[in-house]
Amino acid sequence: MTNKCDVLVIGGGVIGTSVAYSLCKRNYSVMLLERSELASGTAGATDGYITYHTKKPGIHLDMGIQSGGMFDQLAYELHDAAGIDIEYEKNCGSIQVVDREEDYPYIASMVKEQHEQTRLDVAMYSIDELRKIEPALSPSLIGGLYCPTAGKVNPMKMVFAFAAAAKNLTCKIMENTEVTDLIIQNGRAIGVHTTAGSYYADYIVNAAGTWAGNLAKMAGLNIPIKPRRGQILVTETLAPIIKTTMQCARTTAIKLNPKMLETLPEKIIRMGTGFCIEQTADGTLLLGFTREFSGFDRDVTLEAIDYIAARAVKFIPALEDVNFIRSFSGLRPYTPDGLPVIGKVDEIEGFIMAAGHEGDGICLAPLTGEMVAEIISDTELSFPVENFSYKRFA
Ligand SMILES: Cc1cc2nc3c(=O)[nH]c(=O)nc-3n(C[C@H](O)[C@H](O)[C@H](O)COP(=O)(O)OP(=O)(O)OC[C@H]3O[C@@H](n4cnc5c(N)ncnc54)[C@H](O)[C@@H]3O)c2cc1C
Repeated sequence: MTNKCDVLVIGGGVIGTSVAYSLCKRNYSVMLLERSELASGTAGATDGYITYHTKKPGIHLDMGIQSGGMFDQLAYELHDAAGIDIEYEKNCGSIQVVDREEDYPYIASMVKEQHEQTRLDVAMYSIDELRKIEPALSPSLIGGLYCPTAGKVNPMKMVFAFAAAAKNLTCKIMENTEVTDLIIQNGRAIGVHTTAGSYYADYIVNAAGTWAGNLAKMAGLNIPIKPRRGQILVTETLAPIIKTTMQCARTTAIKLNPKMLETLPEKIIRMGTGFCIEQTADGTLLLGFTREFSGFDRDVTLEAIDYIAARAVKFIPALEDVNFIRSFSGLRPYTPDGLPVIGKVDEIEGFIMAAGHEGDGICLAPLTGEMVAEIISDTELSFPVENFSYKRFA
């Protein structure tokens, strides 16, 4: 097997496989290097919301709307190219419920801003109105936002579909191949050393998610991507109980406006925990989640499980007698401003970043893949890349 190709992509998560697929569609020869197995990182330990209202108004929300709009076509394309159904549900809708009066004004003003800036179909509703959409919601809640155009997808199937579609074109997928160092010559990245030999390419894409900072260090760069753990409970299979994806207002506060949390107990702030729920195509519920800084530790804690379960029952009382069958955690690739790091690295020619998507990587993956392929092929960008430069952290 040749050890040279056009582009080496490091990381077999949703971003790396999306990048590989977009490049292969443009006829680049690609090798995707994954230290373990495809989807063994965060993309295999996540929800699959394609939501817009969870993104900061401005560039983040704009990117979310554009990337989310690509799923319709992508689902057909991947089914055709790889024979895999990514279980994309268009317009399943998403609700964000408020359970404390003091949280209402922030959510209402965010909704106003999002709608005014983008014409996004999002508005505030009373709890009675929300219960017409989701009758399982507790009548004791206050109300919240509803965005009917949000969708959902199966993230693992998305990774496998991107990878299979890329492989059917011009990609070699190399699992159990850990990149241990970059090979840099005269200021240009020309290859990588791995646990399975050395590989060379014209371009190297760092799509190592939460671990992308470690890869960047190999290039002498300090890019502050750090792990932010999210714990999730999985219930037994149930008949349909909800059709939207739901979160509580607190999940947005933890992500976008931590000030709103100041009146909450220390334990809740530390765990960064709110309520979210999604019913998967096979009927299980994913209940979450936490947003906590605990290094690279992927353990699930009793403290969080206990809290998530209690909060889920508060929002959906019918869950009182439901069993949960397992739990897992994933590490969101957090950046200090919540935006991903995408684009060329000036100091090292041929080295390109595509990481740091925090809690939005599933939604943002289709557009990220296209943007990286456009950067490499030097064609017009579908979305401006300047705001995603690593240099903003200098
Ligand atoms: C609980 C939770 C809920 C979430 N919910 C949503 C949601 O509803 N919607 C949404 O859009 N996003 C959500 N996210 C965020 C989303 O899951 C992530 O942004 C996304 O999965 C990141 O994908 P990635 O490809 O960048 O990283 P990863 O999937 O982690 O992929 C990176 C890969 O790189 C590999 N790697 C690392 N170092 C090396 C090396 N040296 N050599 C080779 N390979 C290496 C890793 O093994 C890994 O497989 C959630 C995250 C969590 C934790």
